[in-house]
Amino acid sequence: MPYKSRWTIDVPNTHLASLLLTSPTANLSQTKRCFMEAARPDTHYLTPHDFRLWSQRFAAGLRKSGLQPGDRVLLFSGNDLFFPVVLMGIAMAGGIFTGANPTYVARELAYQLQDSGATYLLCAGMSLDTGIEAAKLAGMSRDRVYIFDNAIYDGQGQARKGCRYWGELVASPEEGAGFEWEDLSTPELADRTLVLNYSSGTTGRPKGVEITHKNYVANMLQYTHLGTLNPDYEERRARSRWLCFLPMYHAMAQNIFIAAALYRGTPVYIMPKFDFVQMLEYTQKFRITDLILVPPVVVMLAKHPIVKKYDLSSVESVGSGAAPLGRETCSEVEKLWPEGKINVKQGWGMTEATCSILGWDPTEKSYSASVGEPNANCEAKIMAEDGTTEILERNQRGELWVRAQNIMKGYWRNPKATQETKTADGWLRTGDIAYVDDQGKFHVVDRMKELIKVKGNQVAPAELEALLLEHPAIADVAVIGAVVNDDERPRAYVVLKPGQSATAEEIVGFMEGKVSATKRITGGVVFLETIPKNPSGKILRKALRDQAAVELKGV
Ligand code: AMP
Repeated sequence: MPYKSRWTIDVPNTHLASLLLTSPTANLSQTKRCFMEAARPDTHYLTPHDFRLWSQRFAAGLRKSGLQPGDRVLLFSGNDLFFPVVLMGIAMAGGIFTGANPTYVARELAYQLQDSGATYLLCAGMSLDTGIEAAKLAGMSRDRVYIFDNAIYDGQGQARKGCRYWGELVASPEEGAGFEWEDLSTPELADRTLVLNYSSGTTGRPKGVEITHKNYVANMLQYTHLGTLNPDYEERRARSRWLCFLPMYHAMAQNIFIAAALYRGTPVYIMPKFDFVQMLEYTQKFRITDLILVPPVVVMLAKHPIVKKYDLSSVESVGSGAAPLGRETCSEVEKLWPEGKINVKQGWGMTEATCSILGWDPTEKSYSASVGEPNANCEAKIMAEDGTTEILERNQRGELWVRAQNIMKGYWRNPKATQETKTADGWLRTGDIAYVDDQGKFHVVDRMKELIKVKGNQVAPAELEALLLEHPAIADVAVIGAVVNDDERPRAYVVLKPGQSATAEEIVGFMEGKVSATKRITGGVVFLETIPKNPSGKILRKALRDQAAVELKGV
């Protein structure tokens, strides 16, 4: 029998905007701040009223410019005060939002443009050259590229290099105030796609993960529900302040810092990107209450001597997700606060599950590296790796399968990949290896899928392997994630063509400019006679990962 959540909550059929902002005209606070620029929070902020109005203005402008329901709009930018406005405005207009990693090179961005079929590219001013090049590669006209920045806040911002300014797509306040989004109050309507978040899933290249309004609403309510288990939830909520440096193009930041924060009324200080020292400074300065982190940041908190210089006494909880994290590191971090105050808790999630599925009841003390139990309304089970039988015994490893209202609709225009990942009765095959302990808590211990996670970012080996095979001297290649300092790094096992030669440095250099920084071959290059494969030609990645662990022992 699958493990069913202990908790049940109501998940309405509704537009995400209706849940977060009630209605197009209801009174919303014009004094409380929901989003602030961390660098200048007193002058550059949005109240819930402002946020809704900017989103409505953008929605109205998009529709005036010809956006049809279901059209895709791609945002290529780091975090920004207006990032949540773009997402919500597109949702209000009935479009589909897709965000790209702001460190992408042109080739990577062009892939997402083409795959999503986006007809608008909103591009951060500082990345404009990449955006223009990507548009060219994808066959998109330059006048579909809009420069995106927060200068709009001060009534500035300009078109340049043959591209337009996104302010053109923002209608007047009067038009915005009159814009009404569609009510999605039936199961069929709530099943409309809201975002395409890119993930490689269990195999192959990145794919657009179709997340619907229902998915988003469910996951946001489940996440919020966990917090409500605290007996003093209302007081905690009232004083909560969050700091967002996780990238908003990814499921985790979108769900927690945009959706859940708005729903709970928790103000969010937005950083354009991660910077450890700045994170500490802002935590101290703004009296941040909850640190929502990924493992590399938890490791830095545990190890970096500078941490001791900061007053982190406002912190009431520390959570981590997106990649594995050892209990020892959590214990180290807990020592930064008086004994018993902080108990680092891990959650488990996946882009295909909107964001999260397994988490900890905050009133319980987490132990080991467990990621807790199924969130409200969620189910999980451990299956034999061949997918045929459920493993019922505790402490036995198998593939983690999950089922819930927050599981994706499917992969965008990719029924084959959808079918391989999601069963007809709604189970998502996660590609992660897990077990359930005697206390009914889940432990995610390994990965049978190809995915590599570098500093919490997805890296798809299939993409790197395809590129490496373009090298004239390479006959065959396999890329795996080698574990170095509690993180993973892409490591290439290479077979050279007969009579050809190439050094490790040349191969590493070959990827320069072709991929963004996290995808470079930073875990080393190893030359082999043959790549180990099973009889049907599938790379034996586990064997290579084990080999890498031996090769890198002591490094
Ligand atoms: P993403 O879709 O980018 O969120 O990546 C999802 C994958 O990250 C999962 O399938 C896991 O392999 C990994 N992951 C996420 N959270 C955890 C966790 N707490 N422990 C171990 N792996 C995790």
